[in-house]
Amino acid sequence: MPTELEESGGAIVRSQGLSVSVGRTDAIGRSALEHRANAWRSVIGSMPAPEVLEWIIGIRRPPPAASAEAAAQVASLVAAIDIERKPARSVPVLAPRKDWIVSGYRTFERQEAIWLRKFAFQGKAFERVSELARSICGGLVRPGETRWDPAQPRHRSCWGVAPLQGERNPPLPPGARSLTSEERQREILQASAAPGLSRHHWGTDFDLFDADLDPASWERGGRFWPAYVALRDEGADYGLADPFRGNGSSNAGYIQERWHWSYWPIGRGLLEFARANEMKLQRALEARWSLRPQFTLVRQRWRDYLFGVGEGKS
Ligand SMILES: [Zn+2]
Repeated sequence: MPTELEESGGAIVRSQGLSVSVGRTDAIGRSALEHRANAWRSVIGSMPAPEVLEWIIGIRRPPPAASAEAAAQVASLVAAIDIERKPARSVPVLAPRKDWIVSGYRTFERQEAIWLRKFAFQGKAFERVSELARSICGGLVRPGETRWDPAQPRHRSCWGVAPLQGERNPPLPPGARSLTSEERQREILQASAAPGLSRHHWGTDFDLFDADLDPASWERGGRFWPAYVALRDEGADYGLADPFRGNGSSNAGYIQERWHWSYWPIGRGLLEFARANEMKLQRALEARWSLRPQFTLVRQRWRDYLFGVGEGKS
């Protein structure tokens, strides 16, 4: 059942003659990308502002034409680096086609569940232990342990949560302490966006190939390194880039996510809209986060995490 946004966004898209061509042979190429970006800027500008804000923060689905265009571009890019089509390339045998996109569109609610699960220190291990956290906890998190593990009593002491049933958390070493709420948020933010701030809300961003989202697999010599090189070399032709390309200051506090690819001709328009409507956006986000302790740092620093990454265009 289409939402109101899909209907209004779709009507605007249709009225401007922006039909979407899907399929690898019809991919929008490099020369047409600026044109698409301009077209999407005017679509976004024609939509009611509250609807765009809700699109950005993940509480309304993107206009179907936006999702379809971005998905078609990523499908075309993946096809272009497909080993079957370019056997000369040293791209490894990748997962079956249905698994190529391990994560695409995500709602505010879904992102909130991920966030609250990590904050409460439940479920599977997650990226990443910072050097700061390691030193605050006085060595409870050992060198070489890069993921926070909610099943590990030492990590539970450091995070500051009660032991699991039947277990005991070791005491903190002298001079050490557990993480504050803000420090926990900073740890989570290295590899997860806060709900409302995820580019996955936009329908323009995709995590590819690696269900484990393991940064080591994407480094030189890793399983996905050849795929990364191919994506990086050819992505620009399809309007796809890696916004979390880590180069220090321009990456907010996120780690590099080489599996994450973003279709910039739409993402850029949304970021421009967000900048131009910053106070309205803040009110919409604050209404969702409320005064919950899990979002104290996020309330202060949301601009850095939304605007402080590459816009996706490389
Ligand atoms: Zn992602």
